[in-house]
Amino acid sequence: MSKERIREIGECQICHKKFYEKDLGDGVWFNYDDEIYSYRGFDSCEKCFDKLQEKVDDKRQRIIENQNSRALHEGQLAGILKFGEPAKELIKGQIEIASKEAYEEKEWRKGKL
Ligand SMILES: [Zn+2]
Repeated sequence: MSKERIREIGECQICHKKFYEKDLGDGVWFNYDDEIYSYRGFDSCEKCFDKLQEKVDDKRQRIIENQNSRALHEGQLAGILKFGEPAKELIKGQIEIASKEAYEEKEWRKGKL
């Protein structure tokens, strides 16, 4: 009367294939089905591993560039803000871009590509 249980332990960040592990009734959870490949904290299936590395490196590069340009923007914004409200209107677009970048980084830290 052994009862097999299954639980999801993640997914391939490229093809979104789900990874599962099973308890075949002995209380031991084990991933019997798929080899999971990890790169910088992101997971993929065997088939997608090359693509995963490429995508992670690309995105990482972009985030670094964003951070650099944001640091530059922030310096400029701080300068502009000294001139008060009318100047804020001028840079509204830039502030919106900065918050979108921050969202992308947050997803990244959660392990989402
Ligand atoms: Zn995959």
